[in-house]
Amino acid sequence: MNILFHLSTSIPLTVLVLQEKTVAVNRVGKVLLIFILGIAMHGVLDAVPHCYPIPAEWDAIAGLGLMVVLFMLVNRSYRLMVMAAMAGTIFPDLVDHATAIINHRLGWQLPVWDKLFPWHWKTYSGSLYNQDCSLSALYHIILIMLVLFVCWWRRNVLWLLFGR
Ligand SMILES: [Zn+2]
Repeated sequence: MNILFHLSTSIPLTVLVLQEKTVAVNRVGKVLLIFILGIAMHGVLDAVPHCYPIPAEWDAIAGLGLMVVLFMLVNRSYRLMVMAAMAGTIFPDLVDHATAIINHRLGWQLPVWDKLFPWHWKTYSGSLYNQDCSLSALYHIILIMLVLFVCWWRRNVLWLLFGR
């Protein structure tokens, strides 16, 4: 799935893990949990049948931009958690795809390993190429609606992250 859609799950994951009253408790544990959940969420999204509605270059640029904007907007005390969420949601692609993409774009010769994460293997990946993308479009819409719903549902925690 496009990086932007993976990143879109980072805020919902963070606000689901954080409880309003125990937000300061066990920070290290929460940062780790959020990172691992981000990786798991990446797996779920990649296993769902999907096309790539956003061209790769724009996806990478917008993804980087979104990360910078979220980093700047989030309150300092929650920055590490949100960074862990964003890192987790894109970590599998960084591990399995980054060197191949860099080699392809820049003509470098970085080492490319076998894919580590099973949802990047042909058997389990939901990647669709040259196929009908209507189901993929529906799944993308459902994802965005879920992201918005969780942010609305956990708006009290969202306010802790971004409120001034
Ligand atoms: Zn992936």
